[in-house]
Amino acid sequence: MLPEYLMKHWINILYIMTQNKEELKKRYSLLPDEDLLRIAMKDSADLTPEAFHVMTKELERRKLKDSVASAIDAQLRCLSSEELSCYCEIIQKQPCPNCGKNQLKLNAILVSHVISLVFITFSETKLSIACPACLQESNKDANLKTWLFGLWGIGIFDTIKSLSLNYKMAKYIGSETPTPVLENFVQDNIGKIEAYKDKSEDLQFLIKHAKASRLTV
Ligand SMILES: [Zn+2]
Repeated sequence: MLPEYLMKHWINILYIMTQNKEELKKRYSLLPDEDLLRIAMKDSADLTPEAFHVMTKELERRKLKDSVASAIDAQLRCLSSEELSCYCEIIQKQPCPNCGKNQLKLNAILVSHVISLVFITFSETKLSIACPACLQESNKDANLKTWLFGLWGIGIFDTIKSLSLNYKMAKYIGSETPTPVLENFVQDNIGKIEAYKDKSEDLQFLIKHAKASRLTV
């Protein structure tokens, strides 16, 4: 399987390079079902009209179109704020992927930490979707790790950035309103959420492996 960042645009790049619809058809026909469905559920809105047409024909040929039709529609539709709230609600009603509890609504924050060793600095910012208690814990852990290991050497600049992001994120913890981070995640994954809305196991997988496309809010 191709890495996701390559997968996202390679069909379009190929079309631009070849301008050959037959070649495009051939390439789509060689994709495994899994990759074809992934493009349909996540990247339909980014495809050129030609690539979109070839992709839908290939889905029809494999009798896969019905299973992703609503996911494609969701991506191509301009979402109203009510629709966005409904999709956020689908995620928020899931049990917490970390502790398994489902009394409180899930939400999303960015969690950032820095580890610094004299001239080497390692910093990481990731997306966390969980219940308020688990979000609180990951926010605290990241801050503690950064205070202990980030301040050394040149890491001080990243440390300030990281701590201020965590401080900003801490204000969202406990709120039932979807955070901007959750709204971004939902918009990026609208096709998948539509396809998985009645499949709790697939939604849990999506939440657990959530990646942020934007590391600022
Ligand atoms: Zn939890």
